[in-house]
Amino acid sequence: MTDIERRLEELEARGLYRRLRVIGGPQGPRVELDGQSVLLLCSNNYLGLADHPRVREAAAEAALRWGVGAGASRLVSGTMTIHGALERALAEFERTEACLLFGSGYLANVGVLSALAGPDSTVFSDALNHASIIDGTRLARAEKFVYQHCDPDHLAWGMGRVPSRPAVIVTDSVFSMDGDVAPLAQIVELARRHPAGARVVVDEAHATGALGPGGRGAVAEAGLEGEVDVVVGTLGKALGSYGAYACCEATMARYLVNSARPVIFSTAPPPPAVGGALAALELVLEQPGRVARLRANADLLRDELSREGFQTAGSSTQIIPLVVGEPDLAMRVCEAALGLGVFAQAIRPPTVPSGTSRLRLAVMASHSADELRDAARALGRAALQAGFRPGAGMPVAAAQAA
Ligand SMILES: *Cc1c(COP(=O)(O)O)cnc(C)c1O
Repeated sequence: MTDIERRLEELEARGLYRRLRVIGGPQGPRVELDGQSVLLLCSNNYLGLADHPRVREAAAEAALRWGVGAGASRLVSGTMTIHGALERALAEFERTEACLLFGSGYLANVGVLSALAGPDSTVFSDALNHASIIDGTRLARAEKFVYQHCDPDHLAWGMGRVPSRPAVIVTDSVFSMDGDVAPLAQIVELARRHPAGARVVVDEAHATGALGPGGRGAVAEAGLEGEVDVVVGTLGKALGSYGAYACCEATMARYLVNSARPVIFSTAPPPPAVGGALAALELVLEQPGRVARLRANADLLRDELSREGFQTAGSSTQIIPLVVGEPDLAMRVCEAALGLGVFAQAIRPPTVPSGTSRLRLAVMASHSADELRDAARALGRAALQAGFRPGAGMPVAAAQAA
């Protein structure tokens, strides 16, 4: 047995082995999964724009007009007028001076953090921040202080210990696996008071198109536009495409062009993805009802799930976690739900902390109320079939042993 085979077996033994599931066709409210039609309840296509006819047509038109690939990095010959058009539209949407596109949200966080922090500074990072933020902090070779999840007191304590070190505070605004919202106003206030200066980076990956006036995000919802140094967003979730952006002041954008390694050393975003995102952004602005629909659907599913006895932790958004506990039990609930026609992928460590494996439900604006009601009932049945008592907060077996 090779060392690679051994590592794979180890993962399987711990219930952590992952395999790719294949969807036939676009990301709609229902999809074909391994030949079976199921309700899709774990896609980040929140506003139903990835499969929207106007977005598809815009991507196809961009391919015809600009070609498929950008051919080079932005600083060499890859910057096309279509990149500028999307950057201007996003800056206007986020009400910032400037915007810089990245290849993906992962690359945006890696690029922004490694550009802003360094060995002489400290990065203050929420315990449940996305992996790309963790990796960006590593690339920056900065000192790191991980504060307890959404805990401004712990953050203040940590900052107080290093008053003379420049700081970067970074947080998801909507947490990707929990659906709760960061205390942004308190974070901005703490940054203002830090003696050596502190910059704030907010990752709006799951908030763009979902929270705030017109879907402008959690920063806008908190009334903090202009108060955050860099707002990172992705084009891959509510905006239905691929790629990402950093919105900031013009000077900051110029600095990122000169220092963010994923911008310098990676090919510019492909024109069809950029054209698709432009059309998606237009739709968000033209049809604010989509954002309202997403929120109403999320409220409805949360209500229906609590009727089934599920606790949905601190979720107040379209991301709704059903925490099960152990990884193999989460997998069993997931498989049982699939058997009942609902696809809600099980999420296990290291994506979530050990002992908190879960089904991470993601609602879309394109789901119907009936679909969501039926899904809640199916999930309740699936949990029981798999031996998990909803609301118990732990597996039936563990509860009995206690
Ligand atoms: C998905 C996600 C990213 C990565 O964005 P991609 O465009 O998919 O690479 C970054 N941050 C958070 C919080 C995310 O959930």
